[in-house]
Amino acid sequence: MRRNLVAGNWKMHGVSASVEALMTGLAARFAGSDIGLSTDIVVCPTALHIPQAVELAAATAIAVGGQNCSEHVEGAYTGEISAGMLADTGCQWVILGHSERRQYFAESDQLVADKAVLARAAGLTPMVCVGETLQERERGEAEAVVSRQLAALVAGGLEPTDVIAYEPIWAIGTGVTATPEQAQAMHAMIRAYLRSEAAASAEEIRLLYGGSVKADNAAELFAAEDIDGGLVGGASLKVDDFFAIVEATRE
Ligand code: PEP
Repeated sequence: MRRNLVAGNWKMHGVSASVEALMTGLAARFAGSDIGLSTDIVVCPTALHIPQAVELAAATAIAVGGQNCSEHVEGAYTGEISAGMLADTGCQWVILGHSERRQYFAESDQLVADKAVLARAAGLTPMVCVGETLQERERGEAEAVVSRQLAALVAGGLEPTDVIAYEPIWAIGTGVTATPEQAQAMHAMIRAYLRSEAAASAEEIRLLYGGSVKADNAAELFAAEDIDGGLVGGASLKVDDFFAIVEATRE
């Protein structure tokens, strides 16, 4: 039985005052809930706000993750942050290969897989994003694109604790959500791929759906057989919405 997981990707949002408000608000809501017993809850602030979030998450059910890490362990890479540094500041998780990183920072499948290797070595759990563009879906290439992204990851050595987030790019930040049927079909395809190419980890790896998950569509998405939770962007910045999405894993 896979444990549910909901992670919030705060992207490049937040200043110390809003981080404090969000974290204290979430801490108060989750203090009155036992959802943390069955669901892992993760927030991923900007790197600058990780120490603050870690401090405010202490004694709550909330864990903290990074949004990216370097493909290098350390050295002369100005502006970069290593997986070890994330772990050192209290992170347990890291999002890798988000479509915005792939698009704006030209991250290749191989680079993302390399980062996952370093993340695991630093003791972080990678949440690796995969997903197709609208054009690729319309050309009938969604499965081929996601399989290609997975292949690099598998070659790097998947662990059963790894997390894969299926995030169709056409659904990220657009308000257009994949239907539960569309999402489940891709999740089932990913699980089948893992059974074939990474059998030892296939049943344990958690698969998240991401792409305009909201309080009012989370439950039907999470009810799908191969969807173990969500990676949430915009709605993770609002206490009530994020709380409701995490609670939706109960159903
Ligand atoms: C994301 O950034 O990973 C994401 C899924 O964003 P949103 O929920 O806003 O679509």
